[in-house]
Amino acid sequence: NERMNNELLERLELINTLKPALSRGEFLLYYQPQYWSKDKKIMGFEALVRWKSERFGMLPPVKFIPLAEESKLIVSLGYWIMEEAFKFIQKLCQQGYASLLVSVNISVVQLIQKDFAGTVLKMMEAYNISPQNLEFEITESAMMESMDSVLDNIVLLRNKGVRFALDDFGTGFSSLNYLTRLPINTLKIDKSFVDNIGKEKSESIITGSIVEIGRKLGLSIVAEGVETDEQFNYLAKKHCDRIQGFLFSRPVPENQALRLIEQDDIASA
Ligand code: C2E
Ligand code: CA
Ligand code: CA
Repeated sequence: NERMNNELLERLELINTLKPALSRGEFLLYYQPQYWSKDKKIMGFEALVRWKSERFGMLPPVKFIPLAEESKLIVSLGYWIMEEAFKFIQKLCQQGYASLLVSVNISVVQLIQKDFAGTVLKMMEAYNISPQNLEFEITESAMMESMDSVLDNIVLLRNKGVRFALDDFGTGFSSLNYLTRLPINTLKIDKSFVDNIGKEKSESIITGSIVEIGRKLGLSIVAEGVETDEQFNYLAKKHCDRIQGFLFSRPVPENQALRLIEQDDIASA
């Protein structure tokens, strides 16, 4: 039928315009600040890619990341994203904000590349990036799916001090038992659990318990998609370390991110 035809056509057009988009410089990074729950100061940023397509306008990652993964373009796009994020880290350090953490999303298609860790380490050296400023985010489902093939790369980077966060936690299939064996530093609680806060009492309890278990395992805990004061207060009370969400700020372009830090008045070294 016509609707399916149109969707198919749009998909084909997207695929065809996606590849040249990288060399045409149509991608850009937005940064969403993350805050310490204890004092509401900025502790870092998550880098989120956008595609400013001449043909389609501004596109969110859901529209093109899956296509980039299928076509393997995510490998080269992923290195471009990393390089941009590294330049941002460099800028932060130069301006005296050397304690901030920048999180970069990594697709499993990138992580299964044999030379992934080696390439990242070379790039870190080239941009003089110290591992304490960097955290990679990998989704729980991706981690579970390809555990064996990604583990070598993760362990290599972990040994150099690079941090890993388990993204969208609670939406995949990992048992809590498994959590103790994963080489991660940070647990990023999925927005769906944050949305449950304040609704049914039993559902808030689950969210609170995930925070507590994660903390007892020595992990840093981030809640994402925090939109209300009620959600923030509950998470802060449960000692969820880090908060990210529209309540504080949407993802913003780099210059606005820098302005947020200045306004935030965090001590620069
Ligand atoms: P994610 O890693 O879970 O990123 C969080 C998403 O939630 C972002 O959407 C962000 O804008 C949105 N968000 C943050 N706070 C709130 C909130 O309070 N309320 C609501 N409703 N949404 C909030 P975005 O930027 O559209 O990214 C979507 C997904 O695309 C990301 O989910 C991630 O899986 C993927 N992605 C984004 N950038 C990259 C990238 O550079 N590389 C890879 N491989 N994937 C990326
Ligand atoms: Ca993420
Ligand atoms: Ca997430």
